[in-house]
Amino acid sequence: MTKAQPELQLVVSEIAEEMRRRPDRGEVATYIPELARADPQSFGLVVIDADGHVAADGDSETPFSIQSISKVFTLTLALGKVGDRLWRRVGREPSGTAFNSIVQREREQGIPRNPFINAGAIAVTDVILSGHQPREALGEILRFLQFVGQDTSITIDEAVAASEQRTGFRNRALANYMKSFGVLENPVDFTLGVYFHHCAIAMSCRQLATAGRFLAHLGRNPDTGLSVVQPERARRINALMLTCGHYDGSGEFAYRVGLPGKSGVGGGILAIAPGKASIAVWSPGLDPSGNSHLGRIALELLAKRLGWSIFGA
Ligand code: GLN
Repeated sequence: MTKAQPELQLVVSEIAEEMRRRPDRGEVATYIPELARADPQSFGLVVIDADGHVAADGDSETPFSIQSISKVFTLTLALGKVGDRLWRRVGREPSGTAFNSIVQREREQGIPRNPFINAGAIAVTDVILSGHQPREALGEILRFLQFVGQDTSITIDEAVAASEQRTGFRNRALANYMKSFGVLENPVDFTLGVYFHHCAIAMSCRQLATAGRFLAHLGRNPDTGLSVVQPERARRINALMLTCGHYDGSGEFAYRVGLPGKSGVGGGILAIAPGKASIAVWSPGLDPSGNSHLGRIALELLAKRLGWSIFGA
């Protein structure tokens, strides 16, 4: 059973207060120059339980760059488009390497390890793009986020997208390398344009927690009753989030938090407590693996205090 709302709100507020006071805030990402403008003092936390009760604290309504959290939603869309054929283009194993690692590409003949490392996410974006113009593919991704996030005001931060377009040399290298193995069907610049823009979608913790609800409830938003994916697919996306959602920090995240989660270098994390809640946290300072430092700590405390780890107490 989910805690009653006042109790849940109390836990959320306590954790937010503890996080605000902590001096260790991690390092804001600077390799995408526009992200370096984020304020490391920002902190937001939103939990939406099975009944739709919202417990929120901090900067929960401030949009931030969701970056790699978008990969959960592009994966969902690509699976909807091509089903299990997607797994010919991308694997399902944890990488044990950084999100933007290049070394594995050569060893594995261009097929990326999983849909959440950059190479895998670029391959997934390429699948969504095939048969469309980049603008249409991007529109489809954005509309999907507006639909699951239940907010048509969700938009792309063009400054962040432009900043990554200008400086994304490593992603360009990854994409060109995959193209040489025939893993990408579309022109590299088209695929990367869509990828950079979906990473630059800006959402608040509240919008993100809303968007994750179908993953917490067997593929269906329990409020609207609208089914987004089949229960089996929701379960599998959660499994990938647990094993691969934090790159080479995935083991540590599972060990400490015990929930499926997906991080982004904007400092957000979407975490799923299956059957119980969808959770979004935002703190822009990152740990050395590129995952939100305080975001992970906040989720660890939350899962512990509410007994929400999927592995039990
Ligand atoms: N857009 C970022 C990149 O490709 C996403 C990385 C991330 O959030 N981990 O580098």
